Amino acid sequence: MLNVKNLSFSYHKTPVLKAISFNAKQGENIAVIGESGSGKSTLLKVLYGEYDLDQGHIFWKNQEVLGPKYNLVVGYDFMKYVAQEFDLMPFISVAENIGKFLSNFYPEEKQRRTEELLEVVELTSFAKTKVKILSGGQKQRVALARALAKEPEIILLDEPFSHIDNFKKQSLRRSVFKYLKDKKITCIVATHDKEDVLGFADKMIVLHDNEILANNTPEHLYNNPKDKLIASFFGEFNELKSASFVYAHQLKVVEKSNLKAIVKRYYYKGRYYLIEANLDGKTVFFEHDKELKKGLSICLSIVK
Ligand code: ADP
Ligand code: MG
Repeated sequence: MLNVKNLSFSYHKTPVLKAISFNAKQGENIAVIGESGSGKSTLLKVLYGEYDLDQGHIFWKNQEVLGPKYNLVVGYDFMKYVAQEFDLMPFISVAENIGKFLSNFYPEEKQRRTEELLEVVELTSFAKTKVKILSGGQKQRVALARALAKEPEIILLDEPFSHIDNFKKQSLRRSVFKYLKDKKITCIVATHDKEDVLGFADKMIVLHDNEILANNTPEHLYNNPKDKLIASFFGEFNELKSASFVYAHQLKVVEKSNLKAIVKRYYYKGRYYLIEANLDGKTVFFEHDKELKKGLSICLSIVK
């Protein structure tokens, strides 16, 4: 189990992380979300032992994770970290990069592991390609596979799919997170993309103003977004007087109601139209199956 106790950290004087405490069980997937600059990357680096803490402790099982003041070499064998900026060896092949840290003592095992990981990150057909000529997204997948090669007990992933195009993203996410679950590898993933969280994360930690604003299951936070920041993570939402946060899909056009609004514009969203309307001088958003013309008067009702 990962046990983070009252962790505080600053690069210089101003604190970046204040009194952070949380746990992660073996095999759990914990998502760390927050606005850009909220400290997600810093938290992962600190968990990896890249910096010394101002305060607090990090334990993996009974072992304390310590910073460079106490360790000659940063990092531990049981833990792997894939940075937002990955560093690969450009002049050797994808397969060689993935197998780089696997022992040559067991060539068949090395070959088997490399092939398995090529499949997980969907790069089998690129095995012999030099990393130098890959796209950013392909490089990111090599970095992921390389981190998984030695089967760490815990993996720290910083926006792992950020460079990967939408065509590949969905299936790659499923493949990687399934692999981690199957192997019971604990995963801490920093992201600002709800698609990386919903359906995969067991818990979701929300960082804000250097602190943990919330730590709960995605389901709980989706259904009880106690803060704007949390609601906005899940999608377009409204703050209405009567009910706290109402997602755009929870507002419906009805024959008659007290919520009278005037349509301002609409956005085509594929499966639905997102309608922007004016309700008592405030902008509201709701989903509708047809476009609605500007100036149209409508009545809205909350359907939760
Ligand atoms: P996020 O990953 O959520 O975007 P970061 O952890 O990268 O956030 O950054 C958190 C804060 O720490 C920001 O204010 C950023 O400017 C600052 N910061 C990040 N890296 C460094 C660094 N190496 N030295 C000094 N300040 C840093
Ligand atoms: Mg970051």
